Amino acid sequence: SAIVDCQSTLIANFGMPVWENPTEFMMEAVFKHEGMKYRYISREIPKDKLEVSFEGVKAMGFKGFNCTLPHKQNIIPLLDGLGESAELMGAVNCVVERDGKYIGENTDGKGYTESLKELTSIEGKTLLILGAGGAARAIAIECALEKAAKIIIVNRTGKTAKELAELVNKNTDSVGEAITLEGEVAIPANVDIVINATNIGLYPDTTKVPIDMSTLKSNMIVSDVIPNPPQTPFIQDAAARGCTTIDGLGMLVNQGKIAIKYWSDKDVNADVMREALVDLFS
Ligand code: NDP
Repeated sequence: SAIVDCQSTLIANFGMPVWENPTEFMMEAVFKHEGMKYRYISREIPKDKLEVSFEGVKAMGFKGFNCTLPHKQNIIPLLDGLGESAELMGAVNCVVERDGKYIGENTDGKGYTESLKELTSIEGKTLLILGAGGAARAIAIECALEKAAKIIIVNRTGKTAKELAELVNKNTDSVGEAITLEGEVAIPANVDIVINATNIGLYPDTTKVPIDMSTLKSNMIVSDVIPNPPQTPFIQDAAARGCTTIDGLGMLVNQGKIAIKYWSDKDVNADVMREALVDLFS
């Protein structure tokens, strides 16, 4: 009889809170579908337990882990190195063990660009991003690395939008521009891609996204980062105006698919991941 290693490859997900985080559900579904002997385990880890939890990961030989709020920055000094976009963003959402070293990557922005690239190339495009938090930062940097021509960042204080625009200008060939939000933002006619990267619309929030929808043109791609509900009122309104739309599941599924590629070198079926989330949110 053959000798079988009964152990699974382990991946963790550290955050606080994580009880509402659907990633485990999506990962376990695709591991099962692909017949991969991997397990994905979400744990609520408070800030002051991150270091000892990471020691546990190393001691038990985990292949890697996702980290979400509040650990995306705090994990950095504990790691052996950073990938290019994680370094630029100053945030890590995915840690990968490579030759005994734990390297921090950021797959959030790549998840977004992957879903965008299913519809259009990013090179030479002008983007407008509403919001200047973690999701906006990941999207702006990754799109800049994909050679977007211009990235306009809009937020209420103007301060973080300006910092992000400067980061783009300093470190990439794209042009970053900041706008302070007053009332509703009118979308300039030369914008190709509009992104809601705020928390507006996340269940159960029903606030309207502060964009003057009458300024959208049907040749624009309009996307939302909100995964739940997948079809936000913002996305629905843009689709009704003839725009091509991308929902927040695209980014969530693709960041996970890219993370699995890093951990296992395997290209998994993204549709299975998407269906698992649609099931969960329905
Ligand atoms: P942050 O708290 O870092 O940033 C939130 C941003 O939203 C800020 O720029 C804030 O604006 C803006 N904002 C919030 N409320 C309003 C409002 N009423 N009007 C105008 N602007 C507002 O959050 P994250 O960037 O980490 O996350 C944002 C959303 O992205 C979350 O809902 C999260 O679920 C989603 N997300 C989705 C991912 C996916 O894979 N689909 C991945 C990561 C995040 P200001 O700067 O003016 O304060």
